[in-house]
Amino acid sequence: MIPRTGLPWQVGEWRKQLAAAVREPAELLRRLEFSPTAIRRLLPAARTAAEDFPLRVPDAFIALMKPGDADDPLLRQVLPLGAELADSAGFVTDPLAETDAMAAPGLLHKYAGRALLITTPACAVHCRYCFRRHFPYAEARGMVEHWRAALGYLAVRPDIEEIILSGGDPLSLTNGRLGELLTALRTIPHLRRLRLHTRLPIVLPQRVDVDLLELLARQPWPVTVVVHANHPNELGPDQRLALAALRRYGITMLNQSVLLAGVNDDTDSLCRLSTALHEVGVLPYYLHLLDRVTGAAHFEVDEDTARELYRQMAVRLPGYLVPRLVREEAGAAGKTLLADN
Ligand SMILES: *Cc1c(COP(=O)(O)O)cnc(C)c1O
Ligand code: SF4
Repeated sequence: MIPRTGLPWQVGEWRKQLAAAVREPAELLRRLEFSPTAIRRLLPAARTAAEDFPLRVPDAFIALMKPGDADDPLLRQVLPLGAELADSAGFVTDPLAETDAMAAPGLLHKYAGRALLITTPACAVHCRYCFRRHFPYAEARGMVEHWRAALGYLAVRPDIEEIILSGGDPLSLTNGRLGELLTALRTIPHLRRLRLHTRLPIVLPQRVDVDLLELLARQPWPVTVVVHANHPNELGPDQRLALAALRRYGITMLNQSVLLAGVNDDTDSLCRLSTALHEVGVLPYYLHLLDRVTGAAHFEVDEDTARELYRQMAVRLPGYLVPRLVREEAGAAGKTLLADN
């Protein structure tokens, strides 16, 4: 029976798929039908790089990759490479000095009116360029238990109107756990907006089950979900169903991308990403320059190229399909806008 959401998957099915996510570089390469020679070439570096920051990718994302193509834009985002081991000047472990901006364990209060809660350290996918790849999650580990400290801080800061659940990935929590957190947040009278930053609808669309949709829809605040897709190939049929379902439940849907060399640093990919998102009710929000985190230098696109790509997008797309090109700077009062023509 097709449930009334029109979603072809069951509540909770995602948890099995998350548990079955690929964690071994060799397995990923075999699934993608790489030749034994290619595997021998890629594997040693992949294994070494994975020691620092393990590989993790769910099947739903692998299914969108082109078999045997080492340059596949989705594979590049998740496959550990030897290039990660190179030291690069200016690339550091905590580029945003986030550890200094902690108002309470796991709570970042850097920008006016908004606080960001690192709800859980867990992610369904490990993106090689992640700026939190060296985040001291172990120290913040008790955070699930210490939500109370974050809630205590929020309660005495009436200037905070928006709570942003981020991570890790807040949707790697179960609906039950997320529901508990939302219930606690509802006791804070000055909160006016709820936002979730999540990559799960893209890498594991089955996460968007009817219980989650109903949980979000019954919150008293306007809910915004900011997903994270970088390339139009990330929007397969299941991803489209999940995104459109969130939209149907009244959620404002936005996307943020990171500009990544060898993944989406061409006008065509960026324009197709915007139009494909729009088809399922998602508007582009931010296009981030890479945060200069150790191990990610090979993804960097220089600012002039970024501005030029932005200009070309602005020529080809309606204004509402052009994301804001931004960079994050430690200590700034908000994202720094790079182009505004
Ligand atoms: C990006 C970010 C936000 C949200 O910024 P918006 O411009 O409102 O999307 C809030 N807090 C932190 C720490 C952030 O990094
Ligand atoms: S989903 Fe987001 S937080 Fe998790 S690894 Fe990817 S970029 Fe980092």
